[in-house]
Amino acid sequence: AASNKKLGIALVGLGGYSSGQLAPALQETKNCYLAGIVTGTPSKAESWSQKYNIPEKNIYNYSNFDSIAKNPDIDIVYVVLPVSMHKEYTIRAAKAGKHVICEKPMALNAGECREMIAACKQAGKMLSIGYRLHFEPHTLEVMRLAKEKPYGKITSIDTANGFTYRGDPKSWRLKKALSGGGALMDMGIYTIQGSRYATGLEPLFVTATEEKTNRELFKEVDETIHYKLEFPGGIVANGKSSYNENVGFLKIHAEKGDYGLQPAFGYGGIQGETPAGVMDFPQINQQAFQMDDFALCVSNKRMTRVAGEEGLRDMQIIDAIYRSIASGNRERI
Ligand code: NDP
Repeated sequence: AASNKKLGIALVGLGGYSSGQLAPALQETKNCYLAGIVTGTPSKAESWSQKYNIPEKNIYNYSNFDSIAKNPDIDIVYVVLPVSMHKEYTIRAAKAGKHVICEKPMALNAGECREMIAACKQAGKMLSIGYRLHFEPHTLEVMRLAKEKPYGKITSIDTANGFTYRGDPKSWRLKKALSGGGALMDMGIYTIQGSRYATGLEPLFVTATEEKTNRELFKEVDETIHYKLEFPGGIVANGKSSYNENVGFLKIHAEKGDYGLQPAFGYGGIQGETPAGVMDFPQINQQAFQMDDFALCVSNKRMTRVAGEEGLRDMQIIDAIYRSIASGNRERI
């Protein structure tokens, strides 16, 4: 049957995430496989082709990418590029007749996200964002607790995500035109996601402040941001993103006790605790589950749980956080 066919995925941009996580995950997937690559680096084309047995006809660069339209081996294009390139490659992929997965943060701002959603809709193609944690068992438990509230009303959230940046000082991550912002866009987005799935609600207002210790390295982008999200019902989420601290937790305060995850946002090793004890869930390959689920959604014409709209919501909040830092005011989201 057609729905038993493994769908072909082409990775666009063969950097750290594609080579370290996505390509290995695609060796474990059941509903999709690594069928093609799009790269601007000829030596990567060569080595990937050998390592993953990718035929010459399924290898593209950024100039001839649009001819992927004629390639029946490729069902899904996965955009794993610097943030400033997400919009262009998502739209080009949809226009080429391919379903799209785009990495987080979805784009430079909410306006770009809307254009991407509209283009995929117009092309009749599905769009998903690389929110791997929506497939992670401990995270799914936090979402269930938000719905069922066994510990009573949620009153507040504390969450932080960051790492001490020791990467290339010339990286796109530190260039505003390419990244759209610093630790908030890269790491803080997980705390925004976390606050949303831990409450099952959408925030209405935000107040944010910025802190910078290394003005040379973080000349163009944010190093550390503190924010307060106000949700309906008086629930407050206090969040922090940082390129100056190794941290990652999601703590939920409820009337009858606290619970949460720590580490909360990594590729693996997520751990959780509730008043009932330590959570007992398996560790999974998040990326493999994420891509397999999207392949099934495409095959069965079912909506993905991490659609473009999910990426747009986070970008609306991120835009409001940057507005609040610039204005010094509480901003409506
Ligand atoms: P890298 O810098 O490691 O790789 C980016 C790749 O994009 C490059 O290797 C290159 O690939 C291509 N590229 C094309 N144009 C440029 C350019 N002007 N500057 C730099 N690179 C360019 O980034 P990551 O792999 O870490 O991140 C890529 C995306 O994945 C980002 O959106 C990031 O936020 C996201 N990500 C998501 C994670 C998650 O957990 N969901 C984890 C890590 C990253 P080539 O040589 O093949 O052309």
